[in-house]
Amino acid sequence: MGSPDSSSARRVRELHVELERLNRAYYELDEPLVPDAEYDRLFRELEALEAAMPELRTADSPTQRVGGAARSDLPEVRHKVAMLSLGNAFSEADIVNFDRRVREGLDGLESVVYAAELKFDGLAISLIYEKGVLVQAATRGDGNVGEDVTPNARTIGSIPLRLKCEKPPQLLEVRGEALMFRSDFEHLNRRQREANEREFVNPRNAAAGSLRQLDARVTGHRPLRFFAYGMGQFEAGAHEREITAHHELLDWYGELGVPVNSLRALSDSPQGLLDFYQRVQHARPTLPYDIDGVVYKVDSFALQRQLGFVSRAPRFAIAHKFPAEEALTVVEAIDVQVGRTGALTPVAKLKPVFVGGVTVTNATLHNEDEVHRKDVREGDTVVVRRAGDVIPEVVSVLLERRVAGSTAFVMPRVCPVCGSEVVRLPGEAVARCSGELVCSAQRKQALLHFVSRRAMDIEGVGDKLVEQLVEAKMVESPADLFTLTPADLLKLPRMAEKSAANVIASIAKARNTTLERFLFALGIRQVGESTAHDLAVHFGSLAAILAAGEEELLEVRDIGPVVAASIRRFSLEPRNRDVIDRLKAGGVTWSEGGKRAQPSQGAARGRTFVLTGTLPTLSRDEARERILAAGGRVSTSVSNKTDFVIAGESAGSKLEEAKRLNIAIIDEPAFLALLHAPDASSDERQKGSK
Ligand code: NAD
Repeated sequence: MGSPDSSSARRVRELHVELERLNRAYYELDEPLVPDAEYDRLFRELEALEAAMPELRTADSPTQRVGGAARSDLPEVRHKVAMLSLGNAFSEADIVNFDRRVREGLDGLESVVYAAELKFDGLAISLIYEKGVLVQAATRGDGNVGEDVTPNARTIGSIPLRLKCEKPPQLLEVRGEALMFRSDFEHLNRRQREANEREFVNPRNAAAGSLRQLDARVTGHRPLRFFAYGMGQFEAGAHEREITAHHELLDWYGELGVPVNSLRALSDSPQGLLDFYQRVQHARPTLPYDIDGVVYKVDSFALQRQLGFVSRAPRFAIAHKFPAEEALTVVEAIDVQVGRTGALTPVAKLKPVFVGGVTVTNATLHNEDEVHRKDVREGDTVVVRRAGDVIPEVVSVLLERRVAGSTAFVMPRVCPVCGSEVVRLPGEAVARCSGELVCSAQRKQALLHFVSRRAMDIEGVGDKLVEQLVEAKMVESPADLFTLTPADLLKLPRMAEKSAANVIASIAKARNTTLERFLFALGIRQVGESTAHDLAVHFGSLAAILAAGEEELLEVRDIGPVVAASIRRFSLEPRNRDVIDRLKAGGVTWSEGGKRAQPSQGAARGRTFVLTGTLPTLSRDEARERILAAGGRVSTSVSNKTDFVIAGESAGSKLEEAKRLNIAIIDEPAFLALLHAPDASSDERQKGSK
């Protein structure tokens, strides 16, 4: 009978309803409900059904129409020349086909010159200039009837109110895109947030929402920009210059003071167009505004006229879109991953989805607060974004598609890798595993720190060996290093007898250490070299440090509540205590003399130093040790808290920073003198602290 089967007809009706709902939200309310890729998917499904069964294609089908209805409370503008959409291309083959269709439409021309330019992601506007003066601005609307936004467009700085031209044409309709730079968009959303107003989803919708305002003063406060890319009506009047091609038009616009973009090219082959596409794709992350592809147009106006239009788009132009950066998919599970530093990151395991040019199966949820802010749950349908090389992330949840009975995400209380307590310090966004010494996720990092020069200083145990030892499960905690034998090491690939012996010898040598080095080597969060030194000086023994409560820890110079809490948590974790016991059993020793005398009352005491460049006689480590021994502190970066920068030869940016912040800069002789000088300010400081 040739009648379309009823399930297809039903699907077509469903798609009409859904696409219209999405169109309304996108074009009329400037608040898209789904990513463009999802919209495009449904749109293509409808196109395919209509192509297979043309009797299902009605005049009111979304595939036959442009844009959305105009806002009823803005005056209407009827376009004399319809404002159309563009056909889309996604692949090289699509471009080759486009070129073939164009040449066929031009009676088999051998080659055609195309003008290539950016496809700006904003909204189309028409600007009418009468005798060089801007008299009307309108949105595209449904292509035939748009909204009058003249007062609004007048507030856009880059739109000239008068053209730079001695004999302007009687009538010129400039067409182009209004858009918002990304930085302006972020700024606007920050302001909206602060004022408790709704935020915009993306710069395109912010631009549309800002231009389509009833009160032009609102538009005036929104930083919109404009790039011209075409022409509607034209009446020359007294104007004599004849424009016959698209690239000439854009050059002329430039002379008239109408903004045009300089990223453009002319090409007479599909390959040239594809090269332009690649070039722009590469430049895309560096552009201050969003583009969603490039546009190729037959350059000659005469040929454009010959080709004409299909229902909603010209035949002479095509948009070559970049892979969508956002897509919809389902969160199958939320896993918690433990990083090398113990940071716990919730990660969404996704139903595989093609986005940003690759198939994505995981997306970061950043941290606990982010998951709660977005309220991402297992089973949710979410928008996933992958822009450039940035790690894919979950942008938002489609609440309307949430399955019943879903529950909010809860951060685990114990580390999913090692079972230690998970802690989140006040003021920190990141929750961490407190099993620094036992968590296998943190093991390599902890071991590398343990053997490093300023910690236990175990020569010959570097990145590679640590990696091998951990992979071979020979070393799980630092304590295992001290039970290694040459025979164990010889089991590792490419390990020779001599190097095995060397490694064992340097481990043996490291057994004799100092309390501060040992403390620093343990890698207790927040405990750097200076704090380790202060702890050793203050308490004198490891047992006293491990037994100290937070109150006692707070008595140590420069230890605040966050550091005290971190040390306390470390000491309370039985598995950390166990590793320490095993280290001692493995022969690690240091001398403990009870509480040590406070360092001399010299001028270096309590001062913060930064070292930069090469000193004439002291090595970095020697200088550092002298500072610590004199009761000073060493920092790696210059800030307002720095008292002295000790600068040697080829000092770099730290020296510049010190000059900028007006911090005392001294050389080695001055430093050595300072170490022996009495502290002139100590009386004052003591008075001040009372
Ligand atoms: P389009 O955006 O794909 O292409 C036409 C438009 O491109 C023109 O109107 C013009 O504004 C713009 N353009 C930018 N640079 C240009 C240039 N150099 N030359 C010519 N035109 C240029 O088509 P459309 O009809 O405006 O919108 C359809 C698209 O909008 C869909 O592909 C979809 O991605 C999106 N959309 C999304 C939703 C949603 O719910 N997310 C809803 C409706 C539409």
